[in-house]
Amino acid sequence: MTNQQYDLCIIGGGINGAGIARDAAGRGLTVVLVEGDDLASGTSSASTKLIHGGLRYLEYFNFKLVKESLRERETLFRTAPHLVHPLEFVLPCDGKGRPLWKIRMGLWLYGRFAGRTRFKPSRFIGNLQSQPFGADLRPDFKKGFVYYDAWGDDTRLVVMNAVDAAENGADIRTRMICTGLKAEEGGWTISLHDRNNQVNASVRASCVINATGPWVRRFLDGTGLSDNDPDLPKVRLVQGSHIILPRINEGRQVYLLQQADKRGVFVIPYEKDFTLIGTTETDYAGDPKDAMATEDEMSYLCEAYNKAFKRPILPEDALFTFSGVRPLLDDSKKDASALSREYRLYHHKRLPAPMISVFGGKLTTYRALAEKAVDLSLDLIKAVADPWTADQPLAGGDFEGKSSKEFFEVQKTKYPWLPEDLLLRYVQTYGARIDMVVGEAQSLRELGEYCGQSVYEAELRYLATHEWAQSVEDVLWRRTKLGLQVTDETAQNIASTLASIVA
Ligand SMILES: Cc1cc2nc3c(=O)[nH]c(=O)nc-3n(C[C@H](O)[C@H](O)[C@H](O)COP(=O)(O)OP(=O)(O)OC[C@H]3O[C@@H](n4cnc5c(N)ncnc54)[C@H](O)[C@@H]3O)c2cc1C
Repeated sequence: MTNQQYDLCIIGGGINGAGIARDAAGRGLTVVLVEGDDLASGTSSASTKLIHGGLRYLEYFNFKLVKESLRERETLFRTAPHLVHPLEFVLPCDGKGRPLWKIRMGLWLYGRFAGRTRFKPSRFIGNLQSQPFGADLRPDFKKGFVYYDAWGDDTRLVVMNAVDAAENGADIRTRMICTGLKAEEGGWTISLHDRNNQVNASVRASCVINATGPWVRRFLDGTGLSDNDPDLPKVRLVQGSHIILPRINEGRQVYLLQQADKRGVFVIPYEKDFTLIGTTETDYAGDPKDAMATEDEMSYLCEAYNKAFKRPILPEDALFTFSGVRPLLDDSKKDASALSREYRLYHHKRLPAPMISVFGGKLTTYRALAEKAVDLSLDLIKAVADPWTADQPLAGGDFEGKSSKEFFEVQKTKYPWLPEDLLLRYVQTYGARIDMVVGEAQSLRELGEYCGQSVYEAELRYLATHEWAQSVEDVLWRRTKLGLQVTDETAQNIASTLASIVA
């Protein structure tokens, strides 16, 4: 790929980089995206996976952010029905947290900001203990509220954006680190290192977008691009951890538990058999790749749970933990939870060629961020093309006007030989791309080699061919969420089948 010329080079294959690549390629720009590891291997695989307005941000008067997020919640629900699902949230109250009037007012405002929405309105629950979802709560939690937000499959959102980008002509290069940039007439020469075969390469691009998430400052400092720029936004790295336990509560509700430090901890039903509890906010100084849940964070999450629920949990009950690092815009507030989740697109005016860096952001707002980033880069390279992503289904999201339930029923008729559990997993993972996964197969046997626990060769072939999966970890943690479920034997079978496909 040496010296190939592009309009846009995007560095970083998290949700923001992939979203920008999709938007730009769909507007006719020539695009290359380079990701130093796997797609979604950074913060975008370690989120709480909520597509939400962020009720809590109302308290900090972040109205603009909440409004934009709620608008995006609606857009993503419409354009990515396979990956974004509505969820019912229970906010239990024991009289020690915020007063009821304040929560009621916040939820009212949340509803107003959502405008015309397909999400149900919130409601007050006068006798929480009499509700099925109140049964597990401690008796002090007498009242509460129910409201609605959404869950989103963070890693698949990233991969589906990259797929759409590639189908619109973008080059997606994983395991390709950007090691340096040199401004030259008409743009940049970008130095790359291919980690798969340890080869160096370079490409040229008219404009560069630095979408390296929590590495944003490291990247600029490491390449010397932050020198002599007093206007660069400050970024504060804040770690957030989650614990995953065997499913604790019955029911599909999420609980939002208010804490004495004014934070909220979510208890979320996760996959079929698990409960996800998160998150925390701890200042972080190391390489974001090394973030790991600390004992204090695990105790904090268990305590948050135990204060609200009758049946206590212990840190050692956790089957798995994961941590990510938020790159938050640092507005000098002491308390990390008070820092804004807004984003800023910074145009490096002092550099000799067009370059933009992405600071901050949320999973929920990635599409809007991408649209603005592409608008700005078009200005910089003096090109014009209209935005398009607000109305177009994301890859796999074209259900032809059907609801998720109706779409599932159609697939049942189409693939009567697929066991219902597997069909559901395929639909929830691949949406309308299920046909590409199944291919010509007319029976389970025709899906090829069986790796165990409903994983067949056909799925691995699809993932390697169309979704850049190269390793068993790519498959288990970022293309699917099977990592928690498979046995060592299945993982080994997946690794060897994948290796034979990739070879
Ligand atoms: C604990 C936690 C919970 C969260 N929960 C939510 C939530 O529920 N809802 C929500 O809306 N948001 C949430 N967020 C925020 C959201 O996850 C982030 O805003 C988003 O994932 C950031 O995406 P990104 O693309 O900017 O960064 P990343 O996903 O980190 O992507 C950056 C990529 O750049 C790559 N990279 C770095 N340097 C180089 C280089 N030199 N060359 C090539 N590639 C490079 C990295 O490998 C990485 O993959 C949460 C964040 C955290 C930490």
